[in-house]
Amino acid sequence: MSDCIFCKIANGEIPTNMVYEDEQMAIFHDVNPQAPVHVLMVPKKHIASLTEAEDEGLLGHMLGKVKDLVPLLGLENGYRVVINCGEDGEQSVPHLHMHVLGRRKLTWPPG
Ligand code: 5GP
Ligand code: ZN
Repeated sequence: MSDCIFCKIANGEIPTNMVYEDEQMAIFHDVNPQAPVHVLMVPKKHIASLTEAEDEGLLGHMLGKVKDLVPLLGLENGYRVVINCGEDGEQSVPHLHMHVLGRRKLTWPPG
């Protein structure tokens, strides 16, 4: 989608602090980190939210990559994967993304 910020970042039109990239997705540091490690896993194709995600292979590919982030980002003590969805989920960027947060004790329940 031409005016979507995550389409532009994931497809290299806007430079970013990239952690990992392949043909299906990009992983980069969040511009406003909520933990010492806070990265975003973003599909290269535009999908508005998890509700619109029909490609289960892509979703599995993205979640399956998290284990590789553990040694890469020092998440051996634990981490959290978050997908905010829609208005009540406080999704602010309408392009599917998975947050991976870690390297601090995360509280529960979320706000
Ligand atoms: P949401 O609230 O939609 O779940 O999360 C959106 C996330 O994207 C936020 O954590 C926000 O800081 C991050 N974000 C928004 N715009 C940019 C940007 O241009 N670059 C990067 N790296 N992160 C962004
Ligand atoms: Zn997009």
